[in-house]
Amino acid sequence: MSFFAYVGTLDCGCSPAACVDEPKFQKDTAKAVSDMIKGGMTVTRVEVKDGETIKIHSCIHKVKEVAKPQRELFA
Ligand SMILES: [Zn+2]
Repeated sequence: MSFFAYVGTLDCGCSPAACVDEPKFQKDTAKAVSDMIKGGMTVTRVEVKDGETIKIHSCIHKVKEVAKPQRELFA
């Protein structure tokens, strides 16, 4: 089993935001992706396999308000 997620990556290579690509939450996902793009991030759709996690961390290079990751990833 695996699922897909969108990860937002900044120019500097930091990935401070991600959200699960879940059809049920399509509207929220679209909003999160749009926020990432507005935050200057490149959005990539990635497959997350069972037992794997998405590594996201705050950018240490810029202080910028970016899309908050969805809670599901950290539950
Ligand atoms: Zn950075």
